[in-house]
Amino acid sequence: MMSASLARDLRALLSGQVLDDEAARLDRSGDFGRMTRRIPGVVVRPAGTGDVAKVIRYARQSSVPVATRAEAHTQSGQALTDGGILLDMTSLDRIQSIDASGSWADCEAGVKWDTLVRQTIPQGLVPPVLTNNLGVTLGGTLSVAGLGVASFRHGAQGDNVLEIEAVMGTGDVVVCSEDANRPVFDALRSTFGQFGVITRARVTLRRCRPRTRTYFLLYDDLGALMRDARLVIEHDRIDYIESTCVPPLHLTVEHGPESPPADAETLQGLAPYRKVHIEDQDTLEFAARMEPLFAIWKRTGNWALAHPWTETILPWGAAEPFITQVLAGLPPTALGGGHVLLWPCRGTVSRVPLFMHPETPLVMGFGILPGVPPDLLQQARRRLNMMSDMSMAAGARRYLSGFIEFDRARWKQHFGPRWDEIGRLKKTHDPDGILNPGFIDYGP
Ligand SMILES: Cc1cc2nc3c(=O)[nH]c(=O)nc-3n(C[C@H](O)[C@H](O)[C@H](O)COP(=O)(O)OP(=O)(O)OC[C@H]3O[C@@H](n4cnc5c(N)ncnc54)[C@H](O)[C@@H]3O)c2cc1C
Repeated sequence: MMSASLARDLRALLSGQVLDDEAARLDRSGDFGRMTRRIPGVVVRPAGTGDVAKVIRYARQSSVPVATRAEAHTQSGQALTDGGILLDMTSLDRIQSIDASGSWADCEAGVKWDTLVRQTIPQGLVPPVLTNNLGVTLGGTLSVAGLGVASFRHGAQGDNVLEIEAVMGTGDVVVCSEDANRPVFDALRSTFGQFGVITRARVTLRRCRPRTRTYFLLYDDLGALMRDARLVIEHDRIDYIESTCVPPLHLTVEHGPESPPADAETLQGLAPYRKVHIEDQDTLEFAARMEPLFAIWKRTGNWALAHPWTETILPWGAAEPFITQVLAGLPPTALGGGHVLLWPCRGTVSRVPLFMHPETPLVMGFGILPGVPPDLLQQARRRLNMMSDMSMAAGARRYLSGFIEFDRARWKQHFGPRWDEIGRLKKTHDPDGILNPGFIDYGP
């Protein structure tokens, strides 16, 4: 269908903006991967849930595909459409209310985590899990999982949502939670907008202390780093844990201004090669700690390069040999200014059924996050896909937030015993297959 007629029909139906000018369509034709370009026929910036429902009902009747795009930090075109309707969810950016007792916030799906924490942390409240990049939306991360440096204790962001409102691919508006419409609640989390469009989420908040202290520890051996990571996780001694490249380990403890943590107790029994640095920050500064790095990436051109970011969640027992072997074949220059991520976590905290990960007591997330110039892209994609396949053969599950080039066999492998359920959910909730088509190959 031509852009002009799509736009004319939708303008007659909707309260929100309908954009069909070339600039608006080109502006939403790419994502952070910089590898895929799809130009939508029309861009809709919905004014509310009602608009989203009208778009989906119209799309069903007219057999037009709909892509749900938020801040587009994904990397394989999964939030884009060629010629279809692009729902630009960033228009739904209102924090509707914060519970008087401070236990939850009701937000439209296009609210960025950054916007939410800048409002809550000064009140001593924080979402239990924050992603490293706060510039992503609630809808965008609930659709993937939403992992962060507190996931070892609190699971994914999808574990910390009390209620979701969504428009399913049928056009039905649903409100669901653990207690109401549970199957739909489970179908909407970690499923990449394949079954419905999240329009509102009630996310959990917890009380936080105003300051953090971070210990930067250096290791010359991955096995030693993993032993110490296990110790601090099992003793529940810290509030946040991360390792943004091998071999540092960053351990962070929240504290009040008058009661700094006891350093010796926090670090007791750990055996780093060297304790490099201790840094005290406000809790908000800590939450936004990656912003200076992202600013450097923007200034130095990394942000504009291709990003076939490949993250995989390994069973703890397979992690050390696997990561050591992969890094041995990865010259630092291959990262092009990007980085390697290590993310030690419990494997049993998340209860989001379709967030696939090894069920071992501990898991290790491993991400290779390069910025790749055009002439090296083919080679990088081939090698990263090989790493992805090898990790799955070692019992890992990919974290599907970024670069994914899965054929049907790989999707089957990813969802394992839940693969048939995925097909059934698609037929039930998006019977015409209009939502983000082409990403998952459901087969005949
Ligand atoms: C620099 C950087 C750092 C990152 N750090 C982390 C991290 O620490 N932890 C982590 O978990 N991830 C991280 N990510 C990945 C990122 O969180 C995911 O890619 C996330 O999905 C992006 O959210 P977005 O708002 O940009 O959504 P988009 O990329 O626009 O969309 C993401 C997916 O969700 C779908 N979608 C979007 N909104 C909705 C909605 N309202 N309803 C239904 N479906 C929807 C889209 O169709 C798409 O499939 C990082 C990415 C970058 C680039």
